[in-house]
Amino acid sequence: MCNKLRSNLDLKIIIRSLIIIFTVFSISSIFVYKQTTKKFHTNTTKQIHLKSQLVNKDITNIFENNKIISEIIETDENVNRYLLEVKKREDVKTNVLYPKVIKTFKNIMKSHDDIYSIWVANEQANFYLDAIGNSNSSCYNIYKRPWREQVANSDEVILTDPYIEYGTCIEVISLIKSLRQDNKIIGYVGIDIKLDHIFTIMEDYIVGKKGMNFLINKNYEFIYSYVGENDEDIVFKNKLIEHVKTLDKDCRDYRKITYKNNKYFIYHHIIDLNGWGIIQLIPENDIDQDINDFLKIMLIIFSIAAISLLIIIIFEGIMYKLRENRLKIQARTDSLTGSINRSYFMELSKQEFCLAKKENRKFNLLMIDIDYFKSVNDNYGHHIGDVVLENMARLSVRLLGNNNAIFGRVGGEEFAAIIMDIDEKEAFIVAEDLRTKISNMDINTDKGNISINVSIGLTSMKNSDIQLKEILKRADKAMYEAKKSGRNKVKIK
Ligand code: GH3
Ligand code: MG
Ligand code: MG
Repeated sequence: MCNKLRSNLDLKIIIRSLIIIFTVFSISSIFVYKQTTKKFHTNTTKQIHLKSQLVNKDITNIFENNKIISEIIETDENVNRYLLEVKKREDVKTNVLYPKVIKTFKNIMKSHDDIYSIWVANEQANFYLDAIGNSNSSCYNIYKRPWREQVANSDEVILTDPYIEYGTCIEVISLIKSLRQDNKIIGYVGIDIKLDHIFTIMEDYIVGKKGMNFLINKNYEFIYSYVGENDEDIVFKNKLIEHVKTLDKDCRDYRKITYKNNKYFIYHHIIDLNGWGIIQLIPENDIDQDINDFLKIMLIIFSIAAISLLIIIIFEGIMYKLRENRLKIQARTDSLTGSINRSYFMELSKQEFCLAKKENRKFNLLMIDIDYFKSVNDNYGHHIGDVVLENMARLSVRLLGNNNAIFGRVGGEEFAAIIMDIDEKEAFIVAEDLRTKISNMDINTDKGNISINVSIGLTSMKNSDIQLKEILKRADKAMYEAKKSGRNKVKIK
């Protein structure tokens, strides 16, 4: 069989490594993306949940504090007496307690800047008086106030939904309590909080760069809305409410909505006040942006890792190849003479023989044996023998190399050469030239100059030669003939 030597590059290993790297890279990217998205949503939900609780706390705090204030006013003696004594509208400012009541209100407002106004209203005289001395106009009618029925029917402090304040026509929310004596209502005390104050709180807790907050009452009507009142906004708000109705009331779930080409996540949280709810909208982009930023960093890290890994693999591959080549060369080289050794010479001979057969090229084989080499060793010592071998091989490589020959050491003091593409006559000339030059060579040694002769057997490939060993045999025979016929000769067979 004619085995061709193939330079099997480690390309396969590199390609395989690349496939592995990119498979691992893709799978881990998908995994990281999914995990990251999940994590971001969980975190965002948590963040929103917390912020909802904070808004809840801030808003409910306002009411809790003011509830206490309204209860303090309820127990104020001057206020109670004032409400009982003023029986007619004309007495509102003439009553001796008027300045005291106003002072009490002003003092409270001084230390509570979330209070817009404090007022009292008298049920019998049907009048109204607030902290800055605004009093009734003749058209004030206590029975037509939007809060009246609810407050009159309760002993508790009532928190109203937004309504227009009587004196200033500003939208407010009020905490109102009925004051009673012998179970009969003698008046009302009210604390007004501007709706704007609630809006500020809502805006303070917006989540995300373009987030929006809404406050709704238990009837799903907007108390505070981030968007306006045009047709598009109204459609949007209706849709928002539809979604909110399907959401749980604890901000654990979310829906999606689009407003002015922006996509939002909707979260809903009921606060501890009149069944009001906070709706928070977070732009999808805000979350995606965070995820994308994170993924970009991951991608860079992965790419660096993949490239480093690839460099390591390529580097390792090259090192491995170099090591392998070094070992191959070592395994193929004769350590003394530096020429190729027997086994590699045989391997190359087979290849060249196959090539010559296949391409119908000329093939010559030379068997070269040093004459009386044993006596060189015997006379000068083994190490001198080595020097002789080295010199002989070096000269042969140089001379035969000019003829593109393959030259190797096939035994102790036996060498062989293959010369292609020249006929037997030309090969004979080369062999003769080699023999003469060797015998003319002065080998410089510790023990003086030494000269040697070689006997060469030459043969050329014939059509009848099927295997290399036939040629080898013939070359051997030719070499022995050269020996027999007196040595220092080239013989053809
Ligand atoms: P002939 O002309 O018939 O070839 O005689 P010869 O002495 O060359 O042949 P023989 O086969 O009797 O001896 C070969 C010698 O080569 C024997 C061995 O000691 C010597 N030899 C073989 N390998 C080495 C080597 O690596 N170094 C040295 N110094 N001598 C070697
Ligand atoms: Mg020999
Ligand atoms: Mg010999």
